[in-house]
Amino acid sequence: MAEEIGFTKQSWQKLYEKFKQMMDLEISTRNCILSLYDHVKSIEFANQQEKYDRSVCKICANYMFLSYIFCWKCLKKGCISHQSICACSAPQISLYIRYNNEELQGMLAKLESKIRTTGS
Ligand SMILES: [Zn+2]
Ligand SMILES: [Zn+2]
Repeated sequence: MAEEIGFTKQSWQKLYEKFKQMMDLEISTRNCILSLYDHVKSIEFANQQEKYDRSVCKICANYMFLSYIFCWKCLKKGCISHQSICACSAPQISLYIRYNNEELQGMLAKLESKIRTTGS
């Protein structure tokens, strides 16, 4: 996250709320995937800095920045929000994530401390 000079307390607060919303949705969708399929492997990106445009969803053609699901049977990948990305009878699903849940929570905590340390 870029360190922006001159952010007001209010803008940190807004950023915090947006980030929290996004994070809560991301984590609950991840949990949903993990419970939806048997033996889902959760795999962190080998390179956290990997360019987001390397991963394009087969279904909606959006870039997938935070995470995607991948089926080893048909080699398709897609947004985790679709939950199901292929028509395989027994899909072999892996969940690829850029940041794990702890890392996301750490970023949120950083934003929170920005709110506290920025004078209004
Ligand atoms: Zn998609
Ligand atoms: Zn498949």
